Amino acid sequence: MVKSRRRNPLKRKRREMIKFKSSEIRKEFFGECTDGEISFDPRLRFITYAFATYAYTMFKVDVMVIDVLRTQEQQNILYLSHPDKAVVDKYKQLPWTSHHQYGRGVDVVILNGADVIVDEMLLFLNSRVKYGKDNEVTALWHTIPEGHVHIQVRSNIKNETVIH
Ligand SMILES: [Zn+2]
Repeated sequence: MVKSRRRNPLKRKRREMIKFKSSEIRKEFFGECTDGEISFDPRLRFITYAFATYAYTMFKVDVMVIDVLRTQEQQNILYLSHPDKAVVDKYKQLPWTSHHQYGRGVDVVILNGADVIVDEMLLFLNSRVKYGKDNEVTALWHTIPEGHVHIQVRSNIKNETVIH
């Protein structure tokens, strides 16, 4: 008897909507591990899925999460080892904290994403998810350590991030 070559659709592996740089990053994203006292803000999971779904639906490109939680030590290393001396000096004078240190930031890259796609993606997210504070946005292009989209939410859950 010839075995059917038709595959069982129920056994087909589902496509993952979001890719992850490492298994550690994936655990941080899903709240399966915390970095000290920090845990990932669940609002960012929802926003990142919306971002990745839009990227794939509109442009057929994948989104990869490259950074989630960050300690003060990691923040120091990131900015003090920066190749641009101006960045290092600025950080030394007044070291600033990052949304990542509070679990309220996530960095993503759009795989094979042309600049025009990145612009569209920032517009998509910022026009729908308001940060809720003047001069601040939910998604922005950031180049430290390398080019990526930084997505952030404010600290107080009540009435601060408006999704519409
Ligand atoms: Zn970031």
